[in-house]
Amino acid sequence: MGDLSNSIIDLRSDTVTRPSAGMRKAMAEAEVGDDVYGDDPTVAALEERVADMMGKEAALFVASGTQSNLIALLSHCGRGDEYIGGAGYHISNYEQGGAAVLGGISPRHVVPSDNGSLAPEAIAAEIQDDDPHFAVSKLLCVENTFHGRVVPQDALEASAHVARENGLAVHIDGARLMNAVVKSGGNAKSMTAFADTVSLCLSKGLGAPVGSVLSGPKDFISRAKRNRKLVGGGLRQSGILAACGLYALENNVKRLATDHENAQTLCWRLANVDGISIDLDQVHTNMVWMNIEADGKRPLSDHMAERGIVLSNPYGPKGVVRLVTHLDFSAAHVDRVVDGFSSWLKG
Ligand SMILES: *Cc1c(COP(=O)(O)O)cnc(C)c1O
Repeated sequence: MGDLSNSIIDLRSDTVTRPSAGMRKAMAEAEVGDDVYGDDPTVAALEERVADMMGKEAALFVASGTQSNLIALLSHCGRGDEYIGGAGYHISNYEQGGAAVLGGISPRHVVPSDNGSLAPEAIAAEIQDDDPHFAVSKLLCVENTFHGRVVPQDALEASAHVARENGLAVHIDGARLMNAVVKSGGNAKSMTAFADTVSLCLSKGLGAPVGSVLSGPKDFISRAKRNRKLVGGGLRQSGILAACGLYALENNVKRLATDHENAQTLCWRLANVDGISIDLDQVHTNMVWMNIEADGKRPLSDHMAERGIVLSNPYGPKGVVRLVTHLDFSAAHVDRVVDGFSSWLKG
């Protein structure tokens, strides 16, 4: 590992981690076959494991979280159908509108409540009547965690309930679902029971280099498999990659608690720095959102880069910084990060 306190500290996202020696070994030793022919035993093992974790009939290994959500939308909806998601959700904002571009599926957005959930009455207001003027409402998408927050289970279930009453299916973008599971001490199966389908990223906090898994009913996963091929996601000896996912589920789930502790330490220390404000109640898992007084100062990223700290703030409003902890961030890094912000604010 080397001296952690001297290495680059990358706080842009939990996607920046490098596969560990153990994960690379699992990759090297993976038994493989051509997965488009259904021959890869390691992919099959990963799919079975995730289906079981989520309490769903079947699952499908896909290239990315974006591909997983796209395939879910293509498999739940057809041209002229509509899905309802949250304003600011990944599926709404950060996937190039893929469902509309590639599937003829239009989005409708509900502004999430403070707890990250979509209020049932707001969902109900967006569900279309059967009328030739309107697109057909087919699907509700929820996201957990949302901005690093664990969305309350009863609120998620209330959202799903109103969707179901109106004949809509329910999909969870659970890119960081395991962070929610570990934080709440629950289990994935009961936390996703309200939904038809779930997308889980292996390449975020779980530390795999590639991959997501989409799970759901058997007939849905059959359609999803066709749609995966349609979007160019049929892979061959992908057991090499699935082996990383299996390794991640075996070794990197419980340790997410360490990422959450490191985020807490960071936010408590940073909240004490003059010029930084953090809503501590909103820091649940591995993301710290903070407001900083940026007026008249040199670019924060330059100041931090000189100290070997990499930050990103490509999306948020000016003065909002997001820090994400992960496998390659250690408690030994905290001082350097706090010093970096303090010296910038004083400078
Ligand atoms: C990262 C992320 C995705 C997309 O995953 P990629 O693998 O980056 O395509 C989808 N949803 C959420 C909530 C995410 O955080």
